[in-house]
Amino acid sequence: MEIKKDELNNIVNQVISSLNKQKDKNINLKQKNNGIFSNMDDAISAAVKAQECLQLNYSIEDREKIIKSMREAASKYVEKMSKMTVEETEMGRVEDKIIKNNLAINKTPGTEDLRTEAYSGKKGLTIVEEAPFGVICAIAPVTNPTETIISNAISMIAACNGVVFNSHPGAKKVSKFVIEILNKAIIDAGGPENLLTAVNEPTLQTVESCMKDERIAMIVATGGPGVVNAALSSGKKAIGAGAGNPPVLVDDTVDLKRVAKDIINGASFDNNLPCTSEKAIVALEIIADSLLEAMTAENAQLVHDIKALERVILNDDGSINKDLVGKDASYILDKAGVKAKNEDLRLVVVDVDLKHPFVQKEQLMPVIPLVRAKDFNEAMEMGVDIEEGNRHTAMIHSKNVDNLTKFAKKIETTIYVKNAPSYAGIGAGGEGYATFTIAGPTGEGLTSARSFTRKRRCVLVDGFSII
Ligand code: NAD
Repeated sequence: MEIKKDELNNIVNQVISSLNKQKDKNINLKQKNNGIFSNMDDAISAAVKAQECLQLNYSIEDREKIIKSMREAASKYVEKMSKMTVEETEMGRVEDKIIKNNLAINKTPGTEDLRTEAYSGKKGLTIVEEAPFGVICAIAPVTNPTETIISNAISMIAACNGVVFNSHPGAKKVSKFVIEILNKAIIDAGGPENLLTAVNEPTLQTVESCMKDERIAMIVATGGPGVVNAALSSGKKAIGAGAGNPPVLVDDTVDLKRVAKDIINGASFDNNLPCTSEKAIVALEIIADSLLEAMTAENAQLVHDIKALERVILNDDGSINKDLVGKDASYILDKAGVKAKNEDLRLVVVDVDLKHPFVQKEQLMPVIPLVRAKDFNEAMEMGVDIEEGNRHTAMIHSKNVDNLTKFAKKIETTIYVKNAPSYAGIGAGGEGYATFTIAGPTGEGLTSARSFTRKRRCVLVDGFSII
């Protein structure tokens, strides 16, 4: 077939123009580098490209080198990002956010978390390896924005995935900041750019479009019931790390001075923002007054004017006033018109009954209700009632081994802490690794690299046995 010169020129021009458009798009992606994009489509495209590059061209040792670089870079900014978070979200305590960020950086496992299973026999060798899903849509809460991003990023990259983060709009600035630092560290270690991406203006619509996008292979939702339900009804592989309402049981076998300190430390940690923090005390009637006394001897204040607190903590419809979430105890008392015993008060305690909204609702603030149980069986029932089947976290203070075991069996939580503050359950002062994505509803538990993998089997028949 003969092609005329004009036609040939036309074809050549079209090809050049299409190549230029592609180049412009790449330049465009490059210009908005460090992972932050103006729209979700570009954020996903860039993460897909980066993940493919990671999977094809990088070894597991390379990934570990990238993770080391991410840990080192994030370490330099711990104080800054903790301050930025408190400034932007107006929640929590800088000194506690520093502890949480350090946990995420230093105690999130890397590639060592991945396991290969092998089966060998007369018919050869079969191995099962933990392979990446591809690109994950990871949704982070306002209560632990940077900790969740750092910990998820380490785990998900260890498992060879790319990540599109959807931060809470109320923490978008600090979330972008940490994503940029981590991306820069990945590139400094020779890794691909845009392995972690996000949009400039995260909204519920951007989360929705990310979840629905066919290039997203997995959804990891860390947050309240709304986002967990949205992830679980997406039709995709989803990990749901949802709300909790952790009770702490106290029986009559313990040193109440030590217990009082543990409860105050756990329940006031980052002003009670962690989903794992003690949210309600269930004390045996026989020791309840002594426990309250021991707590008020420390930096907690027992408030008798419960109506004053209800007026500021509860909205008219009975829901929790979000304006007080993560605020200091003295600030909340001030709003309620109650004088705090000191400016740096850590915790407010109220003596109420089981059905009180402060007990039944996840408050996420340093105001802890205490309920009284006539015996240990009633205490366990109350604990289960408060936990509401979230299967999230529970604490117990007891020296009675039977009690320790009985409550564990009854409450069936993902995290069960005995004789320590709640944060021991996420690796602060307790053994074990850290994570800020605790997947009760979907059963992965405390997530780590292997939670973000698919198992793949490779079979070699005959000829591979040395015996
Ligand atoms: P949140 O549910 O309001 O928001 C969490 C994230 O989900 C945000 O990024 C938000 O933009 C997004 N989101 C909210 N509703 C959505 C919906 N319907 N569809 C799509 N996206 C949605 O929660 P929060 O106030 O940021 O965080 C506190 C909550 O998260 C508490 O309930 C706490 O217990 C829970 N939490 C759980 C874990 C865990 O590991 N299990 C860890 C941290 C926080």
